Amino acid sequence: MSNVVSEIRCKNCGAPLDLHPGELLSTCRYCGYTAVVGADSTFQLQHSLILNQHNAASTTDILQDWMRSGFMKPGDLAKKSNITMLELRYLPFWLVPLTATSNYEGVLERISPPSQRKGTIENSYDWLVLGRKAAEFPTRDYKVPVEGKIPFDYSKVEASAKFLNSEIENTEAIAHAKDEVEQHHQFLAKQEVDRLTNFSTTFKVEAATYLHAPLWFAQYDYKGRSYNAIIDGSSGAVLRADIPPVDFKMF
Ligand SMILES: [Zn+2]
Repeated sequence: MSNVVSEIRCKNCGAPLDLHPGELLSTCRYCGYTAVVGADSTFQLQHSLILNQHNAASTTDILQDWMRSGFMKPGDLAKKSNITMLELRYLPFWLVPLTATSNYEGVLERISPPSQRKGTIENSYDWLVLGRKAAEFPTRDYKVPVEGKIPFDYSKVEASAKFLNSEIENTEAIAHAKDEVEQHHQFLAKQEVDRLTNFSTTFKVEAATYLHAPLWFAQYDYKGRSYNAIIDGSSGAVLRADIPPVDFKMF
């Protein structure tokens, strides 16, 4: 049986596309052409790339500096650990610029007697949505380094890196962003009232940007166990890293 997925070709240059099940957007590794899989129209949205500024050596240095610094880490972490995996991956994101206006009504109960309150929360965001479904990524901790953003150019993608396509489309990304912003505003409203009786949000959404950003995924061993870390390939910041538990000495 032939593999149907591998027979999809780039509409721009005819090269075979490296697509995996579930991916809804494709980016051609030869010409950089980006399209919605199966759609006849061309991709209308802006596609950007964040440049990678790091290599395996500098990423290892960053991780070892992280191991040596800060409290709550075993003192011998840098010395006794062993980096077992270090891989650059370009992850797909949607950057959704939106302004959200939430009107709320509620009851403030923490001060007696309870009183009715109402108010408005209005904020503008560049809300980031990861384009992968079954993935864990600290999206809220990740600030896209917008200064390092260029129009997408496949020749600037490191050849040895893993390149992941988006599994969600523009409209789904926007819906996702709205949901998360609304939840965030509910959280803010609950700082003002203890019980919400009315809450509604309206959105002004601008065109979303599709972008690929370089992230270094690392794994290290320490005392027989494996831990994960993610490092921003643009800024070199440690986005998230597991810390082994410190052995407590009894006094
Ligand atoms: Zn192509």
